[in-house]
Amino acid sequence: MSTVEIRNVHKSFGDLEVLRGIDFSVESGQVVCIIGPSGSGKSTLLRCVNLLEQPTSGQVFVDGIELTDPDVDIDAARRRIGMVFQQFNLFPHLTVMRNITIAQERVLKRSRAEAERIATENLKKVGLLEKAKAYPAQLSGGQQQRVAIARALAMNPSLMLFDEPTSALDPELVGEVLSVMRQLAQDGMTMLVVTHEMSFAREVADRVVFMDHGVIVEDGPPEQVIGNPKHERTREFLRRVL
Ligand code: ADP
Ligand code: MG
Repeated sequence: MSTVEIRNVHKSFGDLEVLRGIDFSVESGQVVCIIGPSGSGKSTLLRCVNLLEQPTSGQVFVDGIELTDPDVDIDAARRRIGMVFQQFNLFPHLTVMRNITIAQERVLKRSRAEAERIATENLKKVGLLEKAKAYPAQLSGGQQQRVAIARALAMNPSLMLFDEPTSALDPELVGEVLSVMRQLAQDGMTMLVVTHEMSFAREVADRVVFMDHGVIVEDGPPEQVIGNPKHERTREFLRRVL
């Protein structure tokens, strides 16, 4: 599984400096949860990890390869990184099975049969094998998000990025998605998860990173950052979300 290292990353949109010098690393097989107020730069940071956003300055390394090096084969590097968004982004006109096979065939050049075999495996993993022939609109939000996770896993990522994967879900559907993520963590996947689910962070994360205004305010084990925060800004945020 992957390692991640972020060195002094800055990101501006015009005059707005959204990331103001971010340093952190994730070891192989670790789960790191990123928490913080809306607008603090969490999504931008996650998008900088797979270069969906180009940092204004600083370096991003995945498995020791510098993705911010202009000479790197970014498409090849990105193939090892799965991403799951708040909005599930499934293709509405394609079946669940086709949603999971299409990139395998087009990007990884797998045969249809091989792609379907791997899709089946991953649908089993997220508990949705019986929905292979369904269309996204026939699924609940929780099921759609589990399909999105299966689709990402079918590409054999060694790093998974999750950006508030349960924020768009009705409360009763959150648990099924978190339990798939918990299983993935137990299987040893390296994961970076932006979330407001403090109980998930407490239970599953090896580390919790608290961000505010484009900087990391606190970074440590969950029992420290959530259980016994050092900084007033962290305490204030936790008072609002807990
Ligand atoms: P968070 O995920 O913590 O809510 P974001 O990373 O989405 O925060 O956004 C941080 C700030 O950057 C916000 O003020 C947001 O409006 C701004 N921002 C994000 N993406 C863009 C963009 N593509 N262009 C301009 N501003 C952006
Ligand atoms: Mg966000």
